[in-house]
Amino acid sequence: MRASGTIGIVGAGLSGAVIGRELAEAGHQVEIFDARDHIAGNCHTERDEDTGVMIHVYGPHIFHTDDREVWDYVNSFQTFMPYKNRVKTTSGDQVYSLPVNLHTINQFFGKTFRPDEARAFIEAQADTSIEDPKTFEEQALRFVGKDLYEAFFQGYTQKQWGCSPTDLPASILKRLPVRFNYDDNYFAHKYQGMPENGYTEMVGRILDHPNVNVSLKTRFVRAQKDDFAHVFYSGSLDGYLDHEFGPLGYRTLDFDRFEYDGDFQGCAVMNYGDVSVPYTRITEHKHFSPWEQHSGSVCYREFSRECGLDDIPYYPIRLVKDKEQLAQYVERASRETAITFVGRLGTYRYLDMDVTIREALDTARLYLARKAENHSMPVFLHSPI
Ligand SMILES: Cc1cc2nc3c(=O)[nH]c(=O)nc-3n(C[C@H](O)[C@H](O)[C@H](O)COP(=O)(O)OP(=O)(O)OC[C@H]3O[C@@H](n4cnc5c(N)ncnc54)[C@H](O)[C@@H]3O)c2cc1C
Repeated sequence: MRASGTIGIVGAGLSGAVIGRELAEAGHQVEIFDARDHIAGNCHTERDEDTGVMIHVYGPHIFHTDDREVWDYVNSFQTFMPYKNRVKTTSGDQVYSLPVNLHTINQFFGKTFRPDEARAFIEAQADTSIEDPKTFEEQALRFVGKDLYEAFFQGYTQKQWGCSPTDLPASILKRLPVRFNYDDNYFAHKYQGMPENGYTEMVGRILDHPNVNVSLKTRFVRAQKDDFAHVFYSGSLDGYLDHEFGPLGYRTLDFDRFEYDGDFQGCAVMNYGDVSVPYTRITEHKHFSPWEQHSGSVCYREFSRECGLDDIPYYPIRLVKDKEQLAQYVERASRETAITFVGRLGTYRYLDMDVTIREALDTARLYLARKAENHSMPVFLHSPI
């Protein structure tokens, strides 16, 4: 029987697990529901039976953060192994290094530039006639010029978002996306790594507390909300509200799996920027665990497409139309009580894992502080808009 005052949590991904653990540590009874047959949400990892390779089931996940508390938090549940993400891209008949760096520039233009020379060269390529870039394309042309844009940004962006870069806002490309040194470490964060035995084991340990009960293969429906003192909801905001204003726009991914005897591509991630190649990238998962040895290999060709109601929502699109719809959902949700929407689906934002954990810790702490003062909890701690 459920104790009165039990807290309900929807989703056993990072958001739900971290909030649940914090509240359990503070003495609350916590019941977590997940519609899937596994914990860890989109970070779920599992070993491939044939090859022994650790698979990132919903696409590759690399942990990177500048947040010391979050780094210490994940390390207290799992050993993190050193891992640097070094992405390659195939464009035309060549393989280049990403993010676009001095090596990429020299290789692409057949030069031996030093940093200052490369900077001056790229500045000369930039289309300075574009004074106030409005679209992704204008921003890229303004930053890097036509040649680099077409080779490294245009096709990939078109495939990833399913629309022309002329239809995407300039804000997507905020800073100059080029490095004038040979640094090919994809992420600039201070702490980076991979959990030694995968994210699912780590999340399992976060959930391993006597006050936490997890029900898998159990979809939570709105009518259950009143069974709980408070609900933290990391499922989709529009789903909770029965898609009253139409489904929010997402991109979904299709993964075409294949095995290879040996080393297929020599790196974890190979992007394909050309539109003539239908997939955006191939990921070879044994390279995400470079401390392990496996003779066989498992790879995935990744295809991006519009998300239907029965598909897994991966990337929120957040264009003007989606944001207008989102505003309606936020207004509608803010009339709810005893529920807080959290995480990537609950707030319709792309969140890296470290940000997800940071927000989950802050959410749980605010709940405890508010409860101690008999104040209610906001519906959104982190505004989706
Ligand atoms: C392709 C891809 C690659 C990524 N790579 C990285 C990376 O390299 N590094 C990084 O830091 N981050 C990465 N991320 C982001 C990372 O996946 C998120 O930060 C993280 O998954 C967010 O956790 P969450 O708990 O908010 O959501 P989720 O992991 O989506 O968990 C939500 C859970 O809620 C469950 N649920 C939903 N509705 C209901 C319901 N009604 N009833 C019961 N259960 C329900 C779902 O089944 C799901 O398990 C990537 C994301 C994607 C899409």
